[in-house]
Amino acid sequence: MTGLTDRFGRVHNYLRISVTDRCNLRCLYCMPEEGVAFADTSTLLSYDQIVEVVEAGAELGISRLRITGGEPLVRPGLADLISRLSNIPGIEDIALTTNALLLAPQAEALRAAGLSRVNISLDTLESSRFRMIARRGELKKVLQGIEAAAAAGFAPIKLNCVLLKGINEDEIASFLKLAYEQPLHVRFIEYMPIGHADENWKKHYLPLSRVHEIAAEQGYNVIPGDAISGNGPSENWTLVGGKGSFGLIHPISDQFCSQCNRLRLTADGFIKPCLYWMDELDVRPALGDRSRLLELYSRAMDLKPESHEMAAKLADESQSHEPTSRRMSQIGG
Ligand code: SAM
Ligand code: SF4
Repeated sequence: MTGLTDRFGRVHNYLRISVTDRCNLRCLYCMPEEGVAFADTSTLLSYDQIVEVVEAGAELGISRLRITGGEPLVRPGLADLISRLSNIPGIEDIALTTNALLLAPQAEALRAAGLSRVNISLDTLESSRFRMIARRGELKKVLQGIEAAAAAGFAPIKLNCVLLKGINEDEIASFLKLAYEQPLHVRFIEYMPIGHADENWKKHYLPLSRVHEIAAEQGYNVIPGDAISGNGPSENWTLVGGKGSFGLIHPISDQFCSQCNRLRLTADGFIKPCLYWMDELDVRPALGDRSRLLELYSRAMDLKPESHEMAAKLADESQSHEPTSRRMSQIGG
């Protein structure tokens, strides 16, 4: 039973926690290449404060957490935070979304601390293109991170692949092959216009119907798949005869807001009822006072909108209120 039901009857049990807005990459769909102003670290919630916010949420029915960022593994002591979160009564599942550059040396410690699952972002299987999309880092390190995660016992490992028209759409077949040959779940994600909706988005947005077209061209027998643990808004598909599977996350071409069960906590301490809109609630004034924190969650339920309006943005139609000015790296995806 949960105390977190919004005005549209949606029950919330899932909190995405961003632990930093910093990152060791500069993915072109997420942040600019240069000149990013990061929050002063003194303005980030401490681990004690994050634990306090989660304890209050758990009292209301939050049972699943996802740690994200920025790049969460650049913040020191993450395994300690995960260990503390996993000991909160009511918390059943903790997942991590990471670019995996720093995962290999930390995978075992994270698993031992109580991390249940990892999602690894990977938009290309070609080294030179990796540098073009992520602008920093090396594909080799990500692949090492994936191997280390498997060796540490994380399963299923999910790969997040943002599809970009004219940039990596020609790799859909390679990612499908990877999902056929390896026990990996590849999630194709539509490019979203968050925070810096601009020409870049309109130029590179690709509806995910392309994935089924390519799967058919490649001769795969694709059938609807079962839900995969923690799969959220992903629509899952099985490649018959293969080891892995794939999923489609299409917030724009096929909106899934009617099933939304999530809240977000930004690294600088704001609860966001919806990824897309500007509304957010400052947790700091409520810290140290459980009843005020519980009240804050309840206000987040009141503020939760029925849906985002990214499709209206694509069509250049007017929107009902103001979109967030935060970048994805300042929210956590
Ligand atoms: N740094 C970590 C990573 O990349 O996995 C965690 C944070 S990142 C903001 C979380 C997820 O958001 C990643 O899978 C990333 O690909 C995705 N993402 C970032 N910007 C996006 C955008 N504009 N549209 C769709 N997905 C985006
Ligand atoms: Fe960093 Fe993740 Fe954003 Fe890429 S998507 S710039 S890895 S926060």
